[in-house]
Amino acid sequence: MTNTNTNTDGVYGADEQASIVVAIDGPAGSGKSSVSKAVAKRLGYRYLDTGASYRAIALFALDRGIDVEHADSVVGLLEGFDETYGFSVDPEISRFTLGDRDVTEEIREPRVTAVVSAIARVPEVRVRVNELFRRIIARNAKPGIVVEGRDITTVVAPDAQARILLTASEEARMARRSAELVSHPAGDVAEQLQRRDRADSAVVDFMNAADGVTTVDSTHINFDETVDAVIRVIESLTARNTHG
Ligand code: C5P
Repeated sequence: MTNTNTNTDGVYGADEQASIVVAIDGPAGSGKSSVSKAVAKRLGYRYLDTGASYRAIALFALDRGIDVEHADSVVGLLEGFDETYGFSVDPEISRFTLGDRDVTEEIREPRVTAVVSAIARVPEVRVRVNELFRRIIARNAKPGIVVEGRDITTVVAPDAQARILLTASEEARMARRSAELVSHPAGDVAEQLQRRDRADSAVVDFMNAADGVTTVDSTHINFDETVDAVIRVIESLTARNTHG
């Protein structure tokens, strides 16, 4: 896998001071991705969207006509996937590639969303992507990186300086997701969200905050207020003014 940004960072072990790691978990529709990206932009941090890697593997499998329920077939794909996957950790640049193909939009399509949980429950897949995520985190330049997903606070970066669970009521999450996917019937969107949360939470618990994880509930606050709330938590946990 190639990280299209590390070359320009010059980060390979050159930093004398560790950069801040912010781990953010939460269910689908909690606003996790957009909030995490906005937080990273405000703080001048890098941004790692871990769900995108699972989605890219799912698309890679669909392209090859693999039965995603067949774990061995999925594992067999990982080698080829590693060689072709590229992504950006610049929050200003949302770009994911498989070889020369830009798949930024495609990995969000409902056909990919529908099968991604099956990919994500294969233990070998999780081990492989977690190695990648930890490499990116370890090599990250100052001032920091926001890493967002389902198991970041617990498995990928349990030692992160700031660990946050971003939640919202199921009703609020469904309403937000329906607003994003205007061309899809609200009932279908709600059903897919519930099904995906159920499947995903059988693998990792992202509904309850683990010890030391701060919960930010966005049910009754808007997007900007949620970004502010998350930044306040990061500032208090890292005990310095991260506005720089
Ligand atoms: O965050 P997003 O909805 O893009 O994630 C897509 C899928 O990737 C999730 O539904 C889940 O199956 C998987 N995932 C995961 N662990 C993560 C991030 C995402 O299992 N850390």
